[in-house]
Amino acid sequence: MRVLVISDVHANLTALHAVLADAAQRSPAYEAVWCLGDLVGYGPDPNECVEIVRSLPGLVCLIGNHDQAALGITPLTRFNHDARAAAAWTQEVLTEASAEFLRALPSDAQVDSFTLAHGSPRQPVWEYILDPRTADANFSEFQTDYCLVGHSHLPLVFQRGTADSFALSRQVAGEQVISLSPRMILNPGSVGQPRDMDPRAAYALLDMKTRSWEARRAAYDIGDVQLRMLKAGLPERQALRLVAGW
Ligand code: ZN
Repeated sequence: MRVLVISDVHANLTALHAVLADAAQRSPAYEAVWCLGDLVGYGPDPNECVEIVRSLPGLVCLIGNHDQAALGITPLTRFNHDARAAAAWTQEVLTEASAEFLRALPSDAQVDSFTLAHGSPRQPVWEYILDPRTADANFSEFQTDYCLVGHSHLPLVFQRGTADSFALSRQVAGEQVISLSPRMILNPGSVGQPRDMDPRAAYALLDMKTRSWEARRAAYDIGDVQLRMLKAGLPERQALRLVAGW
């Protein structure tokens, strides 16, 4: 089975379309989609993104911290100024149908030999795995060979061969294919707001049979999204950062 792995779409419909178009051209075709949370927040198209993602085949979708903020589950004071403004805006425009979909999402999941969490297996919604130390602490928090996370918006891979060794980290720059070998924590990066200085939308294609992880990037019309953000009254800084990819 081939799985399209996406995360942190952040209500960026143009980036989501670009990723789906790019993934559709890869063969063999993907049969399932795993979405690691933060469908909304920051971007101008929360309802449209929810509608598209919920219609994708074989969907496993998690809730993220920004989804929780949009639902009023997390107090907005936990967010910085811009994220809070975007969350407040999202709360206002989110339809009941979108809210209902988001509210029903789990914070983690397990499929085959993969554990899925937005942030980390230890703290599914909030913890960032950015360094080998945090990765090490999390390797004992899941039992499967692999764990997929989002949240940091950085394509990253952490590997730990044996229980008594230390995790090695590797930043995944651009497009590459990585062979899976137990055990690993992998992050596909962010569709809607990449933060690794590469503004192209990031995602991954996971091949369960060949045990490979293909990191992909898809360019999209950033100006188009920026216009919608500014029109909606979303924070200008959040629109500007998309060009630089941070
Ligand atoms: Zn996010």
